[in-house]
Order: sequence, then structure tokens, then C-alpha cells
Amino acid sequence: AHLDRMTEVEPKVKAFLHVDRETTIAQARAVDTRLRAGERLGPLAGVPIAHKDIFTTRDMPTTAASMILEGWRPPYDATVTKRLREAGLVILGKTNLDEFAMGSSTENSAFHTTCNPWDLTKVPGGSSGGSSAAVAAYEAPLSTGTDTGGSIRQPASVTGIVGMKPTYGGSSRYGLIAFASSLDTPGPFARTVLDAALLQEAFSGHDAMDSTSIDAPVPSVVEAARHADVAGMRIGVVKELGGDGYQPGVLARYNEAVQLLESLGAKVVEVSCPSFTTALYAYYLIAPSECSSNLARFDAMRYGLRVGDDGTRSAEEVMALTRAAGFGPEVKRRIMLGTYALSSGYYDAYYGQAQKVRTVISREFEAAYQQVDVLVSPTTPTTAFAIGERVDDPMAMYLADLCTIPSNLAGNAAISVPCGLAEEDGLPVGLQIMAPVLADDRCYRVGAAVE
Ligand code: GLN
Repeated sequence: AHLDRMTEVEPKVKAFLHVDRETTIAQARAVDTRLRAGERLGPLAGVPIAHKDIFTTRDMPTTAASMILEGWRPPYDATVTKRLREAGLVILGKTNLDEFAMGSSTENSAFHTTCNPWDLTKVPGGSSGGSSAAVAAYEAPLSTGTDTGGSIRQPASVTGIVGMKPTYGGSSRYGLIAFASSLDTPGPFARTVLDAALLQEAFSGHDAMDSTSIDAPVPSVVEAARHADVAGMRIGVVKELGGDGYQPGVLARYNEAVQLLESLGAKVVEVSCPSFTTALYAYYLIAPSECSSNLARFDAMRYGLRVGDDGTRSAEEVMALTRAAGFGPEVKRRIMLGTYALSSGYYDAYYGQAQKVRTVISREFEAAYQQVDVLVSPTTPTTAFAIGERVDDPMAMYLADLCTIPSNLAGNAAISVPCGLAEEDGLPVGLQIMAPVLADDRCYRVGAAVE
């Protein structure tokens, strides 16, 4: 049914980079055989899923939406892919993204832009915009994404679905093509809070293959999603995230969601986190710095594309030609920014300073969580913007991440849950619920109450 739905809507939505009906059907048959043989699989056995094309898959290509990886076939599965395969989920295909997950609209994909199913002239958010569009368009019931600076929550918000960034280290980065390793976090997309919880639980947990994976017992997010009781919970409204510069229709739905929580018995207080307004600037130094280091591996020797290797050129020339041809403009911009911020003489002023801001933000979160159980804000300042509107203005594009980035810098859990449609354009609005490290269950509990 999902493959048929894809045939119908995919020409318009363009959520996928790779679809292979036969591989999908073969996987479904294999799950059926396992179930018939009496194997006990998890609650999602047989459910189809779409993976962001940044997770390696051994039976499908993996490109990170970059020319530099075109044609690369990974020899192994990412931990997320592997665990979901073992749990019996069937892969429908690989979804579009901004190249190497750098962007907020999928317009930085080297292959094509994905359209928002609510209005095909609008972006589906990004970087995981293929995954959000696939679920919103009913092409897939579930999908995976990665959130480095909002890339799950922002696309979920602008396509009217649920998207969760788990605690950093709660989901494995093994086999996830690295962008900014201290921030990258795999997470789920779904149409309901409970579905997202089931998916997160199916791929989470300690992984010896990822050195930053947390080895600690965590409360069940599925249980939390089933117990949508917020009576007595303390909810902090972040003063700095909202107000001037936010779309009125976004603020209206957000305020209603806060009132709803209050009417359900939660205690709502205003909380001030003054440094949150500087998070964006710290992020756009830290993320490019890490990216410039991570993307050094694309050297024309190890993966995919190789340009100009005709026997007359040195390895260094081939590397330069390959990187010039293989990386898109946003990726090059970030590599240059990061290399500059890390260079001797500038390191302390830029990267070092950004790391200090990161620490201050983490401390403000800790202070806030002394007073409240969760913090809330709009997920993004506006609803989905028009395709093309922000491509020539990187600063306008970066503003989409204003509310999501603080949780990435602190490594906290945060979810986006739909909270209605903005009056002025009829497009979805998302409520962001943030919780302390390893308190992912609180995001699901509050999320299920507003759903
Ligand atoms: N939009 C942000 C960026 O471009 C977030 C990306 C992400 O979370 N992967 O870096």
C-alpha cells in the first residue's frame, strides 16, 4: 500500500533519493517468514520505514545528498538501520536531505528539492526534509532523521508531524555519516507521539561501536507516551524564545498549547535563559568547525567520486578537483568557515569563545531545570517558507534554527509536536518540549498530552 501511495504522490513530493520496490518486497517477505517461523520480533515488525540517506544501508546506496558519494555502496549497516532491520521493519527507501545535513529546507541537496505536502510551493524543512515529507504525505508511516541543530524538529514542525531529538548519546551515531560529531543525534519521525516513542525505543540504547553512546538505564519512552498525564508537572515558558520576529499565527497556536497544558493541571511559569539568544552564533562556529574536520575524509581515495585521475595528476590535484566538483556551495562555505575558525591565531577568538558560550547555555538549562520539569517554546519562528525564498540568504536560512539549537548545544532531549495551523497561511505549527539529559520520557509525556 505504501509503495502504491509512493507511485501516486512521489512525482509531486519528491521525498526520496532511492526507492527499490523489489528490495522492499523481498525484505517484507523475509520478515513474514521470520514471523511464521515463530520468531518473536518487536511491536513494529512488518511496519515500513524510510531512512534519511545519511544512515548507511548495506542493500541500498547512501549519498548524504552529495555528488561526492554518488554511486557509493556502504559495506555495512548503521546501528540504527541494523537494529530496526532486526526488529523487522521494512525499508521503503532512502530520503532526501540537505547535503551532509547542512541546511533547513532540502534545497542544499545535490539532487533535487523536496516539496512540503501541505503546499508544494513550500519547503518541507531540513535537513531531514525528505523524511518529514514522506511521513506527512502518507508515503511512510515512520522515518528516521538526524538532528544536529534542529534537523528533525524543524521539518517535523513545518510538515505537521512529530519529530524527536533524543538525548545526545542516547541513540548511536555508528554508520551515520558525520557532520558535527558532538551534536549529531539520530531520532524518529512519526504521525503520533506514541509511534515516535515506539520507533525511538526500537533503535536506542547503548552501542559499543559509538564511543559517545551512553550506557545507563533510561525510563521507557513508550510508557511515557501512553501516560499523557501532566497534572502537577512544572512547565517553563522560555521568555527569550517567542515575541518579536515570530509569526503571529505561530505565537497564537503556541500560546493555546501552553494554556491547554495549564488546563490539564500543569503549573506554568516563565523562565529566563538569556544566553539562548547567542546559541545560533555559537552553533554556526562549532558545527562548521567539526564539519571541516569530518569532511576531510572525502579525499578522492576512499569513497565515491574521483575526478581528473588520468595518470598525469598528483594525488593532491585529484583530491582538489574531486572536492571542488563533489561538494556543493553550502558545504564549501562551512568547510571554509570551520577551517578559518580553527586556524591558529583565530582559534581562541572563535572556536574557543563558542565553546564557552556552549557551557554557559548548558548551565542556564541546568538552572532552569532546578525550577521546572520541562521547557517549552515554538519549534520554529515561522511556518514553512517558500522554496527559493531563503536560498541566497544564509543568515535568513539559519534563523529557522533559533529555538532548536540550544538543546543541541546542551545535549538535551527535545520534541516537536503539532499544535494546529497558523491562521494567515493554514500551515502547521509545532510546539517544542525540551527536557534534561536522559529525561526523554518527559518530552513524550507532555507531547502526548497536547497531541
Ligand atoms: N539547519 C541547521 C544547519 O544547517 C541544522 C542542521 C541539522 O540539524 N543537521 O546546520
